[in-house]
Amino acid sequence: MDEQDRIIKIYENCFTPALHIYWPIAIKRGDRVYVEATNGKRYLDFSSGLAVLNIGHSHPRVMEAVRLQLEKYVHTGGVYYSEIVASAAERLISVTPPGLDMLFFSNSGAEAVEGALKLARFVSGRPGFISFTGGFHGRTLGAVSITTSSSKYRNRYHPLLPAVYHSLSPYCFRCPSGRKPETCGSECFDNLKDMLKQQISPEEVAACIIEPVLGEGGYSPVPHSFLQKLRNLCDKHGILLIFDEVQSGMGRTSNWFAADHYGITPDIMTVAKGIASGFPLSAVVATRKIMERWLPGAHGTTFGGNPVSCAASLATIAVIEEEKLLEKSRLLADRAMERLKRLARLNPSIGDVRGIGLMIGIEFITKTGAPYREAVQKVLDYCLGKGLILINCGSERHIIRFIPPLNTTEAELDTALAILEEGVTTLL
Ligand code: PLP
Repeated sequence: MDEQDRIIKIYENCFTPALHIYWPIAIKRGDRVYVEATNGKRYLDFSSGLAVLNIGHSHPRVMEAVRLQLEKYVHTGGVYYSEIVASAAERLISVTPPGLDMLFFSNSGAEAVEGALKLARFVSGRPGFISFTGGFHGRTLGAVSITTSSSKYRNRYHPLLPAVYHSLSPYCFRCPSGRKPETCGSECFDNLKDMLKQQISPEEVAACIIEPVLGEGGYSPVPHSFLQKLRNLCDKHGILLIFDEVQSGMGRTSNWFAADHYGITPDIMTVAKGIASGFPLSAVVATRKIMERWLPGAHGTTFGGNPVSCAASLATIAVIEEEKLLEKSRLLADRAMERLKRLARLNPSIGDVRGIGLMIGIEFITKTGAPYREAVQKVLDYCLGKGLILINCGSERHIIRFIPPLNTTEAELDTALAILEEGVTTLL
């Protein structure tokens, strides 16, 4: 049995089968856009460690910052103040949309979502939440209550958080009202307005929470007009608007946040994944007016805002800025989009290619237009065999997420695209 098989066996023995690992690869080393497995095989990693490694694996600048912090101290536990934590907070606020200028650090995306929900309830004094179908917000009970990307995530956990309502998501490729973008009559938005008339009155709604680019549920950007109407509706009724930017944030859309792309600012935003290049850190960010009403002791954490993670976060932001990765990744995204759209024109199994920046979804369909899960699995297996790691998403896992690190080179992008094109062309 080789080392990789041995490690996988230990996982099977020690971890509950509830834990899902995408690929049977045990990694030995990660270096920017590459990972090396224990069996010596080298892969181009276009999963970015589940949309986390926006500047790739083990960026030297991040590693150095972490090393320096490790020599000083690694924990504060809310007992002492810390310069590095203070700097990380200031730095994060410097890149979040204007007006979102206070925060609370925690560890994971789900924890940030929990914090955002609690904050919204606390300051509004209202019980209700509205989320959008197909959304994914995490695995904790509050986060899973607003998650509807798959019933598998909710199965056997009921009863979930009460006063949560799910409005139709504007997932345009599979428009729930059967419209084409040209004939869109904003039926999804009407659904939300009807919900406020028929199911929960606006004055009982604390917040609407939405992923500006649907992530796990299908890599589908929300149309600008929908988000603008949602912003206006929330303003009209004093409902707080939460953007869950756990996946779409920190440069993934070639903007610091998808909110910047849309030019629409939420009241509260969640940030995690790419924030610290793989070190656990997340944040609830909100306006000062909202945050100042969250009273002492109303929320807390032992590990949130870990100093080592904060050092990694500071370095990550510096790298994105100094290496001009927002600008560079825009060029990569254009290049990828053009080739993927051409591939879609040539191959009817690809129904749609969409995205913002390097957050691109490739949706596969059968001859009848149904989700084509088997095709995606075949293509992903093919790519893996050729040394390219990709992952899927969507309720039927019928969408490929194309999410390379922002500092991928053009040559690496071309190599990955060539493998993917070859896979689609030979298999489908
Ligand atoms: N919110 C969004 C939009 C996500 O994509 C995810 C994870 O994929 C989460 C929340 C949960 O994050 P975590 O897995 O770090 O708890």
